[in-house]
Amino acid sequence: MDILKRWFGGQSATPAASSHRPEPKAAPSAAAATQAPPTSNTKIHPAVDGGVKAGSDAFNGGTLHCRCDSNKVEVTVKAQCAHNHVCGCTKCWKPNGATFSMVAVVPRDSLSVTANEDKLEVVDASAAIQRHACKGCGVHMYGRIENTDHPFHGLDFIHTELSNDSGWAGPEFAAFVSSIIEGGTHPDNMDDVRSRLKQLGLEPYDCLSPPLMDAIATHTAKAKGVL
Ligand SMILES: [Zn+2]
Ligand SMILES: [Zn+2]
Repeated sequence: MDILKRWFGGQSATPAASSHRPEPKAAPSAAAATQAPPTSNTKIHPAVDGGVKAGSDAFNGGTLHCRCDSNKVEVTVKAQCAHNHVCGCTKCWKPNGATFSMVAVVPRDSLSVTANEDKLEVVDASAAIQRHACKGCGVHMYGRIENTDHPFHGLDFIHTELSNDSGWAGPEFAAFVSSIIEGGTHPDNMDDVRSRLKQLGLEPYDCLSPPLMDAIATHTAKAKGVL
Protein backbone atom coordinates (compact mmCIF):
# COMPACT_ATOMS: atom_id res chain seq x y z
CA MET A 1 0.00 0.00 0.00
CA ASP A 2 2.95 2.32 0.49
CA ILE A 3 3.43 2.58 -3.23
CA LEU A 4 -0.23 3.23 -3.79
CA LYS A 5 -0.29 5.86 -1.07
CA ARG A 6 2.71 7.51 -2.68
CA TRP A 7 0.99 7.30 -6.03
CA PHE A 8 -2.16 8.88 -4.72
CA GLY A 9 -0.30 11.55 -2.83
CA GLY A 10 -0.33 10.35 0.74
CA GLN A 11 -4.06 10.24 0.93
CA SER A 12 -4.82 8.76 4.34
CA ALA A 13 -6.72 5.70 3.28
CA THR A 14 -7.77 3.64 6.29
CA PRO A 15 -7.26 0.01 5.36
CA ALA A 16 -8.08 -1.16 8.88
CA ALA A 17 -11.43 0.55 8.81
CA SER A 18 -12.25 -0.54 5.30
CA SER A 19 -11.32 -4.17 5.91
CA HIS A 20 -13.74 -4.26 8.83
CA ARG A 21 -16.46 -2.59 6.88
CA PRO A 22 -19.59 -4.71 7.22
CA GLU A 23 -20.73 -6.27 3.99
CA PRO A 24 -24.49 -6.00 4.11
CA LYS A 25 -26.12 -9.07 2.62
CA ALA A 26 -28.93 -7.28 0.87
CA ALA A 27 -31.64 -9.39 -0.67
CA PRO A 28 -31.73 -9.14 -4.46
CA SER A 29 -33.84 -6.21 -5.46
CA ALA A 30 -37.25 -6.82 -6.96
CA ALA A 31 -36.06 -5.33 -10.23
CA ALA A 32 -33.04 -7.61 -10.41
CA ALA A 33 -35.14 -10.63 -9.55
CA THR A 34 -37.54 -10.00 -12.41
CA GLN A 35 -35.87 -8.15 -15.24
CA ALA A 36 -32.61 -6.24 -15.26
CA PRO A 37 -33.39 -2.64 -16.26
CA PRO A 38 -31.39 -1.26 -19.19
CA THR A 39 -30.63 1.84 -17.15
CA SER A 40 -29.90 2.36 -13.49
CA ASN A 41 -30.40 5.10 -10.95
CA THR A 42 -26.94 4.26 -9.66
CA LYS A 43 -24.71 6.76 -11.41
CA ILE A 44 -21.07 5.93 -12.05
CA HIS A 45 -19.75 8.43 -14.60
CA PRO A 46 -21.53 10.15 -17.53
CA ALA A 47 -19.31 8.35 -20.06
CA VAL A 48 -20.46 4.89 -18.91
CA ASP A 49 -23.92 5.40 -17.42
CA GLY A 50 -25.49 4.66 -20.81
CA GLY A 51 -23.18 1.71 -21.46
CA VAL A 52 -19.45 1.40 -22.04
CA LYS A 53 -18.30 2.46 -25.50
CA ALA A 54 -15.58 0.33 -27.04
CA GLY A 55 -12.56 2.00 -28.60
CA SER A 56 -11.08 1.53 -32.04
CA ASP A 57 -7.98 -0.55 -32.76
CA ALA A 58 -7.07 1.88 -35.52
CA PHE A 59 -7.13 4.89 -33.18
CA ASN A 60 -3.80 6.63 -32.70
CA GLY A 61 -4.50 9.51 -30.34
CA GLY A 62 -6.13 12.92 -30.39
CA THR A 63 -6.42 16.21 -28.57
CA LEU A 64 -7.81 17.02 -25.14
CA HIS A 65 -9.23 20.41 -24.20
CA CYS A 66 -10.00 22.01 -20.86
CA ARG A 67 -13.46 23.39 -20.20
CA CYS A 68 -12.73 27.11 -20.33
CA ASP A 69 -14.94 29.09 -22.73
CA SER A 70 -11.90 30.61 -24.43
CA ASN A 71 -8.14 30.14 -24.50
CA LYS A 72 -8.56 26.45 -23.80
CA VAL A 73 -5.57 24.44 -22.70
CA GLU A 74 -4.89 21.84 -25.37
CA VAL A 75 -3.04 18.59 -24.86
CA THR A 76 -2.09 16.44 -27.84
CA VAL A 77 -1.57 12.71 -27.41
CA LYS A 78 -0.04 10.70 -30.22
CA ALA A 79 -1.03 7.27 -28.94
CA GLN A 80 -4.00 5.14 -28.03
CA CYS A 81 -4.57 5.01 -24.26
CA ALA A 82 -4.22 1.89 -22.09
CA HIS A 83 -5.73 0.63 -18.83
CA ASN A 84 -8.65 3.04 -19.08
CA HIS A 85 -10.81 2.65 -15.99
CA VAL A 86 -13.20 4.39 -13.67
CA CYS A 87 -11.54 5.37 -10.40
CA GLY A 88 -13.15 5.93 -7.01
CA CYS A 89 -10.22 7.71 -5.35
CA THR A 90 -10.62 11.27 -4.14
CA LYS A 91 -7.62 12.64 -6.05
CA CYS A 92 -8.54 12.13 -9.69
CA TRP A 93 -10.50 14.90 -11.41
CA LYS A 94 -14.11 14.04 -12.13
CA PRO A 95 -16.97 16.02 -13.65
CA ASN A 96 -19.52 17.57 -11.29
CA GLY A 97 -21.92 15.00 -9.89
CA ALA A 98 -19.92 11.95 -11.01
CA THR A 99 -19.17 9.28 -8.41
CA PHE A 100 -16.09 8.03 -10.25
CA SER A 101 -13.47 9.64 -12.43
CA MET A 102 -12.44 8.00 -15.69
CA VAL A 103 -8.70 7.82 -16.21
CA ALA A 104 -6.26 6.08 -18.57
CA VAL A 105 -2.53 6.05 -19.20
CA VAL A 106 -0.45 6.96 -22.26
CA PRO A 107 3.31 6.92 -22.82
CA ARG A 108 4.83 10.11 -21.42
CA ASP A 109 6.67 10.88 -24.66
CA SER A 110 3.42 10.74 -26.63
CA LEU A 111 1.90 13.67 -24.72
CA SER A 112 2.55 17.38 -25.19
CA VAL A 113 0.78 20.58 -24.23
CA THR A 114 0.00 22.32 -27.51
CA ALA A 115 -1.89 25.45 -26.38
CA ASN A 116 -2.15 27.73 -23.34
CA GLU A 117 0.31 25.81 -21.20
CA ASP A 118 0.69 28.91 -19.00
CA LYS A 119 -2.77 28.22 -17.57
CA LEU A 120 -1.63 24.92 -16.04
CA GLU A 121 -0.50 24.46 -12.46
CA VAL A 122 0.34 21.38 -10.41
CA VAL A 123 -2.47 20.64 -7.94
CA ASP A 124 -0.30 19.05 -5.24
CA ALA A 125 3.45 19.15 -5.74
CA SER A 126 3.97 16.57 -2.97
CA ALA A 127 1.81 13.94 -4.69
CA ALA A 128 3.47 11.17 -6.68
CA ILE A 129 1.25 12.01 -9.62
CA GLN A 130 1.73 15.65 -10.54
CA ARG A 131 -1.74 16.58 -11.74
CA HIS A 132 -1.53 19.52 -14.11
CA ALA A 133 -4.81 21.41 -13.74
CA CYS A 134 -6.19 24.42 -15.61
CA LYS A 135 -6.25 27.48 -13.36
CA GLY A 136 -9.34 28.69 -15.22
CA CYS A 137 -11.71 25.72 -15.08
CA GLY A 138 -10.03 23.32 -12.66
CA VAL A 139 -9.91 20.38 -15.08
CA HIS A 140 -6.88 18.12 -14.74
CA MET A 141 -5.31 17.96 -18.20
CA TYR A 142 -2.71 15.30 -17.41
CA GLY A 143 -0.95 13.63 -14.50
CA ARG A 144 2.77 12.94 -14.64
CA ILE A 145 5.08 10.93 -12.40
CA GLU A 146 8.51 12.55 -12.04
CA ASN A 147 9.97 9.94 -9.67
CA THR A 148 12.01 7.64 -11.92
CA ASP A 149 11.79 4.83 -9.31
CA HIS A 150 8.01 4.78 -9.43
CA PRO A 151 6.54 1.61 -11.01
CA PHE A 152 4.52 3.70 -13.43
CA HIS A 153 7.18 6.26 -14.31
CA GLY A 154 6.98 6.89 -18.04
CA LEU A 155 3.19 6.85 -18.11
CA ASP A 156 1.00 9.94 -18.05
CA PHE A 157 -2.59 9.89 -16.83
CA ILE A 158 -5.33 11.42 -18.96
CA HIS A 159 -9.11 11.80 -18.97
CA THR A 160 -10.28 10.81 -22.45
CA GLU A 161 -13.65 12.51 -21.92
CA LEU A 162 -11.81 15.81 -22.50
CA SER A 163 -11.36 14.79 -26.13
CA ASN A 164 -13.89 15.12 -28.94
CA ASP A 165 -12.05 12.45 -30.91
CA SER A 166 -13.73 9.06 -30.86
CA GLY A 167 -11.83 5.81 -30.73
CA TRP A 168 -10.14 6.04 -27.33
CA ALA A 169 -10.05 2.65 -25.65
CA GLY A 170 -12.99 2.36 -23.29
CA PRO A 171 -12.82 1.73 -19.54
CA GLU A 172 -12.10 -1.90 -18.59
CA PHE A 173 -12.52 -2.04 -14.81
CA ALA A 174 -13.25 0.00 -11.71
CA ALA A 175 -10.42 0.85 -9.31
CA PHE A 176 -10.48 1.98 -5.67
CA VAL A 177 -14.22 1.38 -5.47
CA SER A 178 -14.39 1.45 -1.65
CA SER A 179 -12.78 4.91 -1.69
CA ILE A 180 -16.00 6.49 -2.99
CA ILE A 181 -17.17 6.31 0.63
CA GLU A 182 -14.43 8.83 1.43
CA GLY A 183 -15.87 10.94 -1.38
CA GLY A 184 -19.31 10.98 0.26
CA THR A 185 -21.11 7.85 -0.98
CA HIS A 186 -23.01 6.16 1.86
CA PRO A 187 -21.66 2.69 2.72
CA ASP A 188 -25.18 1.27 2.36
CA ASN A 189 -25.05 2.09 -1.36
CA MET A 190 -21.95 0.02 -2.08
CA ASP A 191 -23.83 -3.14 -3.08
CA ASP A 192 -25.78 -1.15 -5.65
CA VAL A 193 -22.61 0.50 -6.97
CA ARG A 194 -20.72 -2.81 -7.31
CA SER A 195 -23.74 -4.47 -8.95
CA ARG A 196 -24.04 -1.66 -11.45
CA LEU A 197 -20.31 -1.78 -12.23
CA LYS A 198 -20.54 -5.52 -12.90
CA GLN A 199 -23.62 -4.95 -15.06
CA LEU A 200 -21.57 -2.48 -17.12
CA GLY A 201 -18.72 -4.99 -17.43
CA LEU A 202 -16.46 -2.90 -15.17
CA GLU A 203 -15.17 -5.42 -12.65
CA PRO A 204 -14.93 -3.60 -9.29
CA TYR A 205 -11.62 -3.69 -7.41
CA ASP A 206 -10.74 -1.92 -4.18
CA CYS A 207 -7.21 -1.32 -5.41
CA LEU A 208 -6.08 -1.50 -9.05
CA SER A 209 -6.74 -4.35 -11.48
CA PRO A 210 -4.69 -7.56 -11.08
CA PRO A 211 -2.40 -6.77 -14.08
CA LEU A 212 -1.54 -3.36 -12.62
CA MET A 213 -1.10 -4.70 -9.08
CA ASP A 214 1.18 -7.39 -10.54
CA ALA A 215 3.16 -4.70 -12.39
CA ILE A 216 3.68 -2.78 -9.14
CA ALA A 217 4.70 -5.90 -7.23
CA THR A 218 7.06 -6.96 -10.02
CA HIS A 219 8.70 -3.55 -9.97
CA THR A 220 9.08 -3.73 -6.19
CA ALA A 221 10.41 -7.30 -6.31
CA LYS A 222 13.01 -6.31 -8.91
CA ALA A 223 14.01 -3.26 -6.83
CA LYS A 224 14.51 -5.57 -3.83
CA GLY A 225 16.46 -8.11 -5.89
CA VAL A 226 13.83 -10.81 -5.33
CA LEU A 227 13.25 -11.14 -9.07
ZN1 LIG B 1 -9.58 25.65 -18.49
ZN1 LIG C 1 -8.18 8.00 -8.93
